[in-house]
Amino acid sequence: MKCKLCKKREADKKNTHFLTDAAIRQAVNQDGRNVRDSGLYFDFSNTKAFVDFNFQQSTSKEKIEEVLKREITQDDIEKSITANDFSVDYYFCSICENHFREIEDPFIHKILKKLRNGVYSRELEASFENVKLFRLFMYLQVWRTALCRGDFEINNVPLNQLRNIILNHKNLKKEDVNRFTMSVIYLDSFNCDLSAQNAVGYGIDKKVRIVFLNDLIIQFYPENSKIDFNEVAGLNSKTDFRKFLNVNESRFVLKIFNNETRMSYLENLSKKSYNVKMDAYKETFKHFFFETKGFKPNVNLVNNFLIEIASSKEINNFLKDRIYKILYKHLGRKETV
Ligand SMILES: [Zn+2]
Repeated sequence: MKCKLCKKREADKKNTHFLTDAAIRQAVNQDGRNVRDSGLYFDFSNTKAFVDFNFQQSTSKEKIEEVLKREITQDDIEKSITANDFSVDYYFCSICENHFREIEDPFIHKILKKLRNGVYSRELEASFENVKLFRLFMYLQVWRTALCRGDFEINNVPLNQLRNIILNHKNLKKEDVNRFTMSVIYLDSFNCDLSAQNAVGYGIDKKVRIVFLNDLIIQFYPENSKIDFNEVAGLNSKTDFRKFLNVNESRFVLKIFNNETRMSYLENLSKKSYNVKMDAYKETFKHFFFETKGFKPNVNLVNNFLIEIASSKEINNFLKDRIYKILYKHLGRKETV
Protein backbone atom coordinates (compact mmCIF):
# COMPACT_ATOMS: atom_id res chain seq x y z
CA MET A 1 0.00 0.00 0.00
CA LYS A 2 1.22 3.51 -0.85
CA CYS A 3 1.99 6.01 1.91
CA LYS A 4 -0.95 8.31 2.50
CA LEU A 5 1.12 11.47 2.72
CA CYS A 6 3.53 11.29 -0.24
CA LYS A 7 1.39 8.80 -2.22
CA LYS A 8 4.61 7.68 -3.90
CA ARG A 9 6.58 5.42 -1.60
CA GLU A 10 5.51 2.13 -0.04
CA ALA A 11 3.93 2.53 3.42
CA ASP A 12 6.62 0.57 5.27
CA LYS A 13 6.22 2.06 8.72
CA LYS A 14 4.75 0.03 11.58
CA ASN A 15 3.41 1.42 14.83
CA THR A 16 2.90 5.01 13.68
CA HIS A 17 1.18 7.13 16.30
CA PHE A 18 -1.65 9.05 14.73
CA LEU A 19 -1.78 11.19 17.86
CA THR A 20 1.66 12.57 18.71
CA ASP A 21 3.17 10.26 21.29
CA ALA A 22 4.94 12.97 23.30
CA ALA A 23 1.66 14.83 23.68
CA ILE A 24 -0.44 11.89 24.90
CA ARG A 25 2.19 9.90 26.80
CA GLN A 26 1.31 11.24 30.26
CA ALA A 27 -2.27 10.07 29.81
CA VAL A 28 -1.58 6.56 28.55
CA ASN A 29 0.02 3.67 30.40
CA GLN A 30 3.30 1.94 29.60
CA ASP A 31 1.78 -0.16 26.85
CA GLY A 32 0.50 2.94 25.11
CA ARG A 33 -3.08 2.34 26.19
CA ASN A 34 -5.23 5.14 27.39
CA VAL A 35 -5.57 5.05 31.15
CA ARG A 36 -8.80 6.89 31.32
CA ASP A 37 -11.00 5.91 28.41
CA SER A 38 -9.38 3.41 26.20
CA GLY A 39 -9.86 4.09 22.51
CA LEU A 40 -12.65 6.44 23.25
CA TYR A 41 -14.83 7.80 20.53
CA PHE A 42 -17.63 10.27 21.17
CA ASP A 43 -20.43 11.26 18.91
CA PHE A 44 -21.98 14.14 20.81
CA SER A 45 -24.68 14.76 18.23
CA ASN A 46 -26.82 11.71 18.83
CA THR A 47 -27.64 9.22 21.52
CA LYS A 48 -25.27 6.59 20.22
CA ALA A 49 -22.56 8.75 21.65
CA PHE A 50 -19.79 6.24 22.01
CA VAL A 51 -18.06 3.41 20.29
CA ASP A 52 -15.06 1.75 21.82
CA PHE A 53 -13.62 0.85 18.45
CA ASN A 54 -10.91 -1.54 19.49
CA PHE A 55 -13.13 -3.40 21.89
CA GLN A 56 -15.51 -4.20 19.08
CA GLN A 57 -13.05 -4.65 16.27
CA SER A 58 -10.20 -6.55 17.81
CA THR A 59 -12.07 -9.58 19.09
CA SER A 60 -13.00 -12.18 16.53
CA LYS A 61 -15.71 -14.76 16.88
CA GLU A 62 -13.05 -17.48 16.45
CA LYS A 63 -11.01 -16.06 19.30
CA ILE A 64 -13.98 -16.05 21.66
CA GLU A 65 -14.96 -19.59 20.70
CA GLU A 66 -11.43 -20.79 21.29
CA VAL A 67 -11.35 -19.18 24.72
CA LEU A 68 -14.75 -20.54 25.72
CA LYS A 69 -13.58 -24.12 25.25
CA ARG A 70 -11.09 -23.79 28.11
CA GLU A 71 -10.14 -21.61 31.07
CA ILE A 72 -9.56 -17.94 30.31
CA THR A 73 -5.93 -17.01 30.78
CA GLN A 74 -4.29 -13.64 31.20
CA ASP A 75 -2.67 -14.28 27.84
CA ASP A 76 -6.10 -14.56 26.18
CA ILE A 77 -7.09 -11.24 27.59
CA GLU A 78 -3.86 -9.56 26.63
CA LYS A 79 -4.11 -10.90 23.10
CA SER A 80 -7.65 -9.56 22.88
CA ILE A 81 -6.42 -6.08 23.52
CA THR A 82 -4.72 -4.17 20.79
CA ALA A 83 -1.26 -3.22 21.95
CA ASN A 84 -1.71 0.44 21.27
CA ASP A 85 -4.94 2.25 20.66
CA PHE A 86 -3.41 5.21 18.93
CA SER A 87 -1.07 3.66 16.44
CA VAL A 88 -1.43 2.11 13.01
CA ASP A 89 0.71 -0.06 10.74
CA TYR A 90 1.50 0.56 7.08
CA TYR A 91 -0.20 3.93 6.63
CA PHE A 92 2.94 6.00 6.11
CA CYS A 93 6.52 5.62 4.92
CA SER A 94 9.66 6.21 7.02
CA ILE A 95 10.51 9.41 5.16
CA CYS A 96 7.07 10.91 5.83
CA GLU A 97 7.34 9.82 9.44
CA ASN A 98 10.42 12.06 9.67
CA HIS A 99 8.47 14.77 7.90
CA PHE A 100 5.86 14.62 10.70
CA ARG A 101 8.65 15.09 13.20
CA GLU A 102 9.68 18.35 11.54
CA ILE A 103 6.34 19.69 12.72
CA GLU A 104 6.03 17.83 16.01
CA ASP A 105 9.46 18.48 17.49
CA PRO A 106 9.48 22.30 17.22
CA PHE A 107 5.88 22.49 18.50
CA ILE A 108 6.76 20.35 21.52
CA HIS A 109 9.93 22.31 22.30
CA LYS A 110 8.75 25.82 21.54
CA ILE A 111 5.09 25.75 22.60
CA LEU A 112 3.98 22.64 24.50
CA LYS A 113 6.93 22.82 26.91
CA LYS A 114 6.04 26.41 27.81
CA LEU A 115 2.45 25.44 28.50
CA ARG A 116 3.44 22.44 30.60
CA ASN A 117 6.06 24.42 32.50
CA GLY A 118 3.35 26.71 33.77
CA VAL A 119 4.29 29.82 31.79
CA TYR A 120 0.58 30.58 31.31
CA SER A 121 -0.80 28.88 34.40
CA ARG A 122 -2.34 32.08 35.80
CA GLU A 123 -3.94 32.99 32.49
CA LEU A 124 -7.28 32.11 30.92
CA GLU A 125 -5.90 32.60 27.44
CA ALA A 126 -2.64 32.86 25.56
CA SER A 127 -1.83 33.92 22.02
CA PHE A 128 0.88 32.64 19.72
CA GLU A 129 2.63 34.51 16.97
CA ASN A 130 3.82 31.37 15.24
CA VAL A 131 0.40 30.62 13.78
CA LYS A 132 1.89 28.33 11.16
CA LEU A 133 3.64 26.02 13.63
CA PHE A 134 0.68 26.02 16.02
CA ARG A 135 -1.77 25.10 13.29
CA LEU A 136 0.47 22.56 11.55
CA PHE A 137 0.74 20.54 14.75
CA MET A 138 -3.05 20.56 15.22
CA TYR A 139 -3.68 19.72 11.55
CA LEU A 140 -1.37 16.74 11.85
CA GLN A 141 -3.52 15.29 14.65
CA VAL A 142 -6.78 15.98 12.85
CA TRP A 143 -5.62 14.74 9.44
CA ARG A 144 -4.05 11.52 10.72
CA THR A 145 -7.06 10.74 12.93
CA ALA A 146 -9.36 11.18 9.93
CA LEU A 147 -7.21 8.83 7.84
CA CYS A 148 -6.82 6.21 10.54
CA ARG A 149 -10.32 6.21 12.05
CA GLY A 150 -13.23 5.97 9.66
CA ASP A 151 -15.79 7.32 12.15
CA PHE A 152 -13.88 10.62 12.39
CA GLU A 153 -15.17 11.65 9.01
CA ILE A 154 -13.89 14.65 7.04
CA ASN A 155 -14.84 15.28 3.41
CA ASN A 156 -12.28 14.73 0.70
CA VAL A 157 -11.80 18.38 -0.23
CA PRO A 158 -10.75 19.64 3.24
CA LEU A 159 -8.90 16.36 3.85
CA ASN A 160 -6.79 16.88 0.71
CA GLN A 161 -6.20 20.51 1.64
CA LEU A 162 -4.85 19.37 4.99
CA ARG A 163 -2.62 16.81 3.27
CA ASN A 164 -1.21 19.46 0.91
CA ILE A 165 -0.52 21.83 3.80
CA ILE A 166 1.29 19.12 5.78
CA LEU A 167 3.21 17.87 2.76
CA ASN A 168 4.35 21.31 1.54
CA HIS A 169 4.56 23.13 4.86
CA LYS A 170 8.10 24.39 4.36
CA ASN A 171 7.09 26.54 1.41
CA LEU A 172 3.90 27.93 2.91
CA LYS A 173 3.18 31.24 4.60
CA LYS A 174 0.88 31.88 7.53
CA GLU A 175 -1.84 33.04 5.09
CA ASP A 176 -1.71 29.67 3.33
CA VAL A 177 -2.44 27.69 6.46
CA ASN A 178 -4.88 29.73 8.58
CA ARG A 179 -8.02 29.36 6.48
CA PHE A 180 -9.68 26.63 8.53
CA THR A 181 -11.71 27.64 11.57
CA MET A 182 -10.33 26.09 14.70
CA SER A 183 -10.27 26.52 18.46
CA VAL A 184 -7.91 24.88 20.90
CA ILE A 185 -8.15 24.55 24.68
CA TYR A 186 -5.24 23.87 26.98
CA LEU A 187 -6.04 22.03 30.24
CA ASP A 188 -3.64 23.44 32.77
CA SER A 189 -2.59 21.27 35.70
CA PHE A 190 0.77 22.84 36.52
CA ASN A 191 1.67 22.06 40.14
CA CYS A 192 -1.83 20.66 40.73
CA ASP A 193 -3.40 17.42 41.76
CA LEU A 194 -3.39 15.13 38.74
CA SER A 195 -5.86 12.60 40.13
CA ALA A 196 -8.25 13.30 37.27
CA GLN A 197 -6.55 11.98 34.16
CA ASN A 198 -7.10 13.75 30.90
CA ALA A 199 -8.87 11.98 28.05
CA VAL A 200 -7.24 10.80 24.84
CA GLY A 201 -9.43 10.06 21.86
CA TYR A 202 -11.61 11.88 19.42
CA GLY A 203 -15.18 12.94 18.83
CA ILE A 204 -17.56 14.52 16.39
CA ASP A 205 -20.44 16.90 16.92
CA LYS A 206 -22.37 18.31 13.97
CA LYS A 207 -19.88 20.48 12.10
CA VAL A 208 -16.96 20.13 14.48
CA ARG A 209 -14.31 17.44 14.79
CA ILE A 210 -12.71 17.14 18.22
CA VAL A 211 -9.38 15.58 19.15
CA PHE A 212 -8.67 14.95 22.84
CA LEU A 213 -4.91 15.09 22.97
CA ASN A 214 -4.40 14.78 26.72
CA ASP A 215 -3.96 18.41 27.84
CA LEU A 216 -4.86 19.88 24.44
CA ILE A 217 -8.37 19.73 23.02
CA ILE A 218 -8.67 20.61 19.34
CA GLN A 219 -11.97 21.68 17.78
CA PHE A 220 -11.61 21.72 14.01
CA TYR A 221 -14.24 22.85 11.51
CA PRO A 222 -13.63 21.25 8.09
CA GLU A 223 -16.06 23.63 6.35
CA ASN A 224 -16.02 27.40 6.78
CA SER A 225 -19.78 27.69 6.52
CA LYS A 226 -21.78 29.49 9.22
CA ILE A 227 -20.70 28.21 12.60
CA ASP A 228 -23.36 28.27 15.31
CA PHE A 229 -22.61 28.19 19.01
CA ASN A 230 -22.10 24.63 20.15
CA GLU A 231 -21.36 23.82 23.74
CA VAL A 232 -19.70 20.43 23.06
CA ALA A 233 -20.25 18.94 26.52
CA GLY A 234 -18.99 22.01 28.35
CA LEU A 235 -15.99 22.89 26.21
CA ASN A 236 -17.40 26.18 24.94
CA SER A 237 -19.27 29.00 26.61
CA LYS A 238 -21.60 31.40 24.87
CA THR A 239 -19.77 34.49 26.09
CA ASP A 240 -16.41 33.72 24.54
CA PHE A 241 -17.21 31.17 21.83
CA ARG A 242 -16.41 33.55 18.93
CA LYS A 243 -13.31 34.93 20.57
CA PHE A 244 -11.59 31.56 20.49
CA LEU A 245 -12.62 30.65 16.95
CA ASN A 246 -9.43 31.31 15.01
CA VAL A 247 -9.60 31.93 11.28
CA ASN A 248 -7.29 34.11 9.14
CA GLU A 249 -5.79 35.26 12.43
CA SER A 250 -2.48 37.03 12.95
CA ARG A 251 -1.93 35.40 16.35
CA PHE A 252 -3.52 32.11 17.38
CA VAL A 253 -5.64 32.61 20.52
CA LEU A 254 -5.68 29.62 22.84
CA LYS A 255 -8.25 29.12 25.59
CA ILE A 256 -6.92 27.90 28.93
CA PHE A 257 -8.87 25.90 31.53
CA ASN A 258 -7.39 26.20 35.00
CA ASN A 259 -7.22 23.04 37.08
CA GLU A 260 -10.60 23.57 38.69
CA THR A 261 -12.34 24.01 35.33
CA ARG A 262 -10.38 21.09 33.95
CA MET A 263 -11.55 18.80 36.78
CA SER A 264 -15.19 19.76 36.43
CA TYR A 265 -15.02 19.37 32.65
CA LEU A 266 -13.54 15.87 32.97
CA GLU A 267 -16.21 14.94 35.49
CA ASN A 268 -18.93 16.05 33.06
CA LEU A 269 -17.33 14.13 30.25
CA SER A 270 -17.12 11.03 32.37
CA LYS A 271 -20.79 11.25 33.38
CA LYS A 272 -21.82 11.83 29.80
CA SER A 273 -19.93 8.85 28.55
CA TYR A 274 -21.19 6.44 31.24
CA ASN A 275 -24.63 5.68 29.84
CA VAL A 276 -23.51 5.49 26.28
CA LYS A 277 -20.68 3.21 27.25
CA MET A 278 -23.11 0.85 28.94
CA ASP A 279 -25.19 0.84 25.76
CA ALA A 280 -22.15 -0.01 23.71
CA TYR A 281 -21.19 -2.88 26.04
CA LYS A 282 -24.75 -4.16 25.93
CA GLU A 283 -24.75 -4.22 22.13
CA THR A 284 -21.33 -5.83 22.04
CA PHE A 285 -22.42 -8.57 24.45
CA LYS A 286 -25.57 -9.27 22.44
CA HIS A 287 -23.56 -9.38 19.23
CA PHE A 288 -20.94 -11.82 20.49
CA PHE A 289 -23.52 -13.96 22.24
CA PHE A 290 -25.46 -14.41 19.01
CA GLU A 291 -22.28 -14.97 17.00
CA THR A 292 -20.96 -17.70 19.28
CA LYS A 293 -24.21 -19.43 20.29
CA GLY A 294 -26.51 -18.87 17.36
CA PHE A 295 -29.37 -17.42 19.41
CA LYS A 296 -30.08 -14.16 21.20
CA PRO A 297 -29.42 -13.84 24.94
CA ASN A 298 -32.49 -13.32 27.13
CA VAL A 299 -32.96 -10.16 29.18
CA ASN A 300 -31.61 -11.76 32.36
CA LEU A 301 -28.35 -12.76 30.73
CA VAL A 302 -27.87 -9.28 29.32
CA ASN A 303 -28.69 -7.68 32.66
CA ASN A 304 -26.36 -9.99 34.58
CA PHE A 305 -23.55 -8.97 32.27
CA LEU A 306 -24.32 -5.26 32.67
CA ILE A 307 -24.69 -5.53 36.45
CA GLU A 308 -21.28 -7.08 36.76
CA ILE A 309 -19.73 -4.41 34.51
CA ALA A 310 -21.44 -1.64 36.46
CA SER A 311 -20.43 -2.99 39.84
CA SER A 312 -16.82 -3.28 38.82
CA LYS A 313 -14.57 -1.03 40.83
CA GLU A 314 -12.82 0.00 37.65
CA ILE A 315 -16.04 1.29 36.12
CA ASN A 316 -14.63 4.78 35.75
CA ASN A 317 -11.56 3.56 34.00
CA PHE A 318 -13.26 0.86 31.94
CA LEU A 319 -10.06 -1.10 31.78
CA LYS A 320 -10.33 -3.44 28.86
CA ASP A 321 -8.89 -6.53 30.51
CA ARG A 322 -11.63 -6.32 33.13
CA ILE A 323 -14.30 -5.92 30.48
CA TYR A 324 -12.96 -8.91 28.54
CA LYS A 325 -12.87 -11.06 31.65
CA ILE A 326 -16.51 -10.29 32.32
CA LEU A 327 -17.47 -10.74 28.67
CA TYR A 328 -15.77 -14.15 28.40
CA LYS A 329 -17.23 -15.26 31.70
CA HIS A 330 -20.77 -14.37 30.70
CA LEU A 331 -20.49 -15.82 27.22
CA GLY A 332 -19.18 -19.04 28.69
CA ARG A 333 -22.18 -19.69 30.90
CA LYS A 334 -24.25 -22.75 30.09
CA GLU A 335 -27.60 -21.04 30.68
CA THR A 336 -29.98 -21.12 27.75
CA VAL A 337 -33.09 -19.24 26.84
ZN1 LIG B 1 5.44 8.88 2.42
